[in-house]
Amino acid sequence: AKSAGRRVCRLFDSEMQRQADRRLLIHNQLRNALRNNELVLYYQPQHMVSNDELIGLEALVRWQDGRRGIISPAEFIPIAEETDLIIDIGRWVLLEGCHQFVRWHEAGYQVPQLSINVSARQFHHPAFVEHVHEVLAETGMEPSALNLEITESVVLGNTEDTIHKMTELKDLGISFSIDDFGTGYSSLGYLKRLPVDELKIDRSFIQDVPHDTSNMAIVEAVMAMASHLNFTVTAEGVETRQQLEFLRRHKCAFYQGYLACKPLPADAVERYMTRHGSF
Ligand code: C2E
Ligand code: CA
Ligand code: CA
Ligand code: CA
Repeated sequence: AKSAGRRVCRLFDSEMQRQADRRLLIHNQLRNALRNNELVLYYQPQHMVSNDELIGLEALVRWQDGRRGIISPAEFIPIAEETDLIIDIGRWVLLEGCHQFVRWHEAGYQVPQLSINVSARQFHHPAFVEHVHEVLAETGMEPSALNLEITESVVLGNTEDTIHKMTELKDLGISFSIDDFGTGYSSLGYLKRLPVDELKIDRSFIQDVPHDTSNMAIVEAVMAMASHLNFTVTAEGVETRQQLEFLRRHKCAFYQGYLACKPLPADAVERYMTRHGSF
């Protein structure tokens, strides 16, 4: 029995080793992909619940691999976050997104806002605020059109650093959303200490509306709290008319999801904006 246990252990060890090797391989390929311009940004439209007006675009990165095709950020962002590779990727995303947004504005497209996802490790990097300054200067991006999405894990890591950096960036005109709201483990107390503008209710709370009454109660509670604290709310992952109707009844301001549109490459976004009267 003892030797069987050891065998299981060895099996387990080799499985862990295999996983670690795979992550290292992906990590190195990803670093090359960044260098070789194989990362691309898709953009998902964000709309007003009340009248469907286009109010913003969220940039979502993809890895376009010659052999494997398009790889989802859910697969490679967590690996990038294990090292400082996420700093370089995050910086590229910010630069590319702002460049594209400014080009669109110059071409006459009228989208009020661009949202960019920022990882905890990237946010807490000592040069993060400086990176943002550099990108704004290099692209001519209007800071008040830039929204940064951070998760509760950012705040959890280091509240003082978070408040300090957010305040500095907000002074420039940049706004902040708490992404995936409701999925973290942080207390709600931190919310009133942070200069947050918006909560993004996680898709997991939206997906079973109108069948899961407890999730619906959570959405309603978030909405009530947001209105007291003066945050706007965006609902993520809206896929059905009923979900949109539910959000309308509860006065949720914004939504995003497959019901309106999937994330699109830049050229398709232009056609989308034209159709939505944003051109
Ligand atoms: P997220 O920021 O919560 O982004 C929303 C995700 O939900 C996106 O997945 C989007 O395609 C997907 N989604 C939107 N509407 C719907 C819907 O109606 N139904 C369903 N089933 N899904 C919907 P995506 O693009 O695969 O991104 C996954 C995650 O990867 C993002 O979650 C974000 O955490 C991370 N990510 C993506 N781009 C970046 C980036 O540039 N930087 C960082 N740090 N993370 C990123
Ligand atoms: Ca996001
Ligand atoms: Ca989210
Ligand atoms: Ca999410």
